[in-house]
Amino acid sequence: MGEGRGREAGGGAELEPELESEPAVAVEAVMSVQVVSAAAAAKVPEVELKDLSPSEAEPQLGLSTAAVSAMAPPAGGGDPEAPAPPAERPPAPGPGSGPAAALSPAAGKVPQASAMKRSDPHHQHQRHRDGGEALVSPDGTVTEAPRTVKKQIQFADQKQEFNKRPTKIGRRSLSRSISQSSTDSYSSAASYTDSSDDETSPRDKQQKNSKGSSDFCVKNIKQAEFGRREIEIAEQEMPALMALRKRAQGEKPLAGAKIVGCTHITAQTAVLMETLGALGAQCRWAACNIYSTLNEVAAALAESGFPVFAWKGESEDDFWWCIDRCVNVEGWQPNMILDDGGDLTHWIYKKYPNMFKKIKGIVEESVTGVHRLYQLSKAGKLCVPAMNVNDSVTKQKFDNLYCCRESILDGLKRTTDMMFGGKQVVVCGYGEVGKGCCAALKAMGSIVYVTEIDPICALQACMDGFRLVKLNEVIRQVDIVITCTGNKNVVTREHLDRMKNSCIVCNMGHSNTEIDVASLRTPELTWERVRSQVDHVIWPDGKRIVLLAEGRLLNLSCSTVPTFVLSITATTQALALIELYNAPEGRYKQDVYLLPKKMDEYVASLHLPTFDAHLTELTDEQAKYLGLNKNGPFKPNYYRY
Ligand code: NAD
Repeated sequence: MGEGRGREAGGGAELEPELESEPAVAVEAVMSVQVVSAAAAAKVPEVELKDLSPSEAEPQLGLSTAAVSAMAPPAGGGDPEAPAPPAERPPAPGPGSGPAAALSPAAGKVPQASAMKRSDPHHQHQRHRDGGEALVSPDGTVTEAPRTVKKQIQFADQKQEFNKRPTKIGRRSLSRSISQSSTDSYSSAASYTDSSDDETSPRDKQQKNSKGSSDFCVKNIKQAEFGRREIEIAEQEMPALMALRKRAQGEKPLAGAKIVGCTHITAQTAVLMETLGALGAQCRWAACNIYSTLNEVAAALAESGFPVFAWKGESEDDFWWCIDRCVNVEGWQPNMILDDGGDLTHWIYKKYPNMFKKIKGIVEESVTGVHRLYQLSKAGKLCVPAMNVNDSVTKQKFDNLYCCRESILDGLKRTTDMMFGGKQVVVCGYGEVGKGCCAALKAMGSIVYVTEIDPICALQACMDGFRLVKLNEVIRQVDIVITCTGNKNVVTREHLDRMKNSCIVCNMGHSNTEIDVASLRTPELTWERVRSQVDHVIWPDGKRIVLLAEGRLLNLSCSTVPTFVLSITATTQALALIELYNAPEGRYKQDVYLLPKKMDEYVASLHLPTFDAHLTELTDEQAKYLGLNKNGPFKPNYYRY
């Protein structure tokens, strides 16, 4: 339980001094990670993977919040230092060592990741985004305030469309195991340099970058310059990765890492990839979504030497071909996987199971992908350690509360040009997403009502100054209905029938289940598409309601994803890769782990300098009084932020 320094028993890593006043010290610590031998990959059992059907992979609805994140130590005993389930473990930092410790701001104790079993992964349907500026009060307390969104990203729809998409140029269409993947996390941008004239498939083009390499497949390498500008803009809002990169000049914690990645290919991903490169990794990358690739960014990456295989509007066959080109390479084998949705992992399991002998770990970002990993783990078929970055506290807060606080207004404004002041709004569900929506609308002068089923959240709504009502009580008078429950049929046809003319209906919660949109597809109602993502549904008497994004997630369909939110996720991914890659043999078993809380705290600390935020340090006396290590973790696992 010592503070400050420690050394990995197995000699795995240097531990750094106690936390200095700035995260920069911790960044240095990151660079002090020593790479342990590939023997850590340990034994790899025979892999036998049956396809996971979409229904298996997709979250179930209607499960309670409490069921979501039951945490348990790894099967078979697990790491004695890994945090136990919240209810059983008091706040106590374990003695630390190894790269994980080196990564943490304090570098005192090993923030071992906790193996986590969840009963309902669905419930936590997260996405990236938001940002909040920190305001520092005289006592040093840091609070959030809305901040300006700089980068605009348009999410290019949606899981259903994957299957609708026409297969191009007659190539054989492979059956896609799941992957709606990519809709678990974002995101995409409209590609302003796209040339719709150029119908030639990138697979049929011969392209080389300026250094003569043709180890990539993108829409048009000539767009690289535009992509570079996008990447430079994103860098401004990704301070933690830029900090890691600066510090990487001396030491390379990912030296020797061969990372194969499958994520959205956007400017933010490019910043992540280039950071991983700066940390010493070699990367090969494919897109996790057939629509979300920003072509010019893919071109910029290819131009700077990254083997990227992705373009906007891939066919299903292209999709798997691109993944295969990343994996099936002569003279190159991945030893780390960074996945978003589980398709890449699935492909390797299915086609190249022997590769897992060299793979040291999987980092997975999406709800769906994490769910698949838990399924594999449960079935005893997970043959390497995996990090679930989706459920990191920091990422969750930013995805759910802060991002929704910003994007609800953006989504409504873009689709309807409405004014918020004085409008009557009912928000269904006062969880994280609901709280974000309510706060934003209240700040804009809307009159906000809340519906809830949980008395605790209901009381919170009351304390925050919102009128708690039943939907029926206000449905005739409200101007906007927003669902944020994660539940189904919260807004029924009966509610829709009773809404007033021009009422706007939208969903910020679970994808297209919260509003009973299917009930509106009846002969007596007329649908008019008035804008992209905006439908007027017209009743026989002329009343019309304004349905946004056909009841799918409003912000993912119609608004932007702030780069700062993606920065949190990308930093978490980078740290998870470093941790898994450098972990001494035996630290992680063939199970799914959460990032240690200390590393979560570290992700947050890396973002604080952006705001010139000054973090207060515990005195020795205070630390003793609270029973904390001065350098964190500062909260028990069960703490709700
Ligand atoms: P949460 O569990 O914190 O909040 C949901 C709330 O809805 C709970 O308080 C619950 O009691 C309440 N609720 C359930 N059924 C209800 C009903 N019939 N009427 C009224 N209230 C009801 O969850 P959260 O983090 O706020 O997420 C909510 C949903 O939003 C989830 O489906 C999640 O996947 C999704 N989500 C969306 C985004 C986005 O960007 N739009 C981001 C994160 C999460």
